[in-house]
Amino acid sequence: MTATKDDVIVRRLARLCLKWGGELRRVSSDEYDRWMARRFSYSEAPFSSNMIGVAWKKKWVITSGTILWTDVIHEMGHVFASKKSPETSDEWAFFGWEYALVKHVRGPFDVWKENNKDYAVNDGGLFGHLRADQIATLLKERTGAARELGLLDKRGRPVAIR
Ligand SMILES: [Zn+2]
Repeated sequence: MTATKDDVIVRRLARLCLKWGGELRRVSSDEYDRWMARRFSYSEAPFSSNMIGVAWKKKWVITSGTILWTDVIHEMGHVFASKKSPETSDEWAFFGWEYALVKHVRGPFDVWKENNKDYAVNDGGLFGHLRADQIATLLKERTGAARELGLLDKRGRPVAIR
């Protein structure tokens, strides 16, 4: 079986998880259900239609069934780019980090944009409703914010902060 472009991106992300001391774990649906039952150590992504979430303390992104690389990137943000657990994290703080990771693993920007169309940006509007020039301004601003927070290296690549 030949690997699809999505598979290649997921593999790049899985390698980064390992490099950063975590793991992208693909589990059976039974095992996933067991994680779901662990309310104190597992946080499921609330807006994804796929089975994905994080065991934040372990630095694991856990997923079952269909896997969407854009979801993996967001969950990796919770694990590696936030010192707060998903329940209390400020997601907006690592939006620029997510964008940097998209570029780093060479994920198609249009796919990332489409899959984040319902993401509520800072002023409460939806990412998918922004014009191209507004998106460009926003990503520049978020990239700057991520850099200030120490989430990017000098070359603009995403780093892990925990
Ligand atoms: Zn989230």
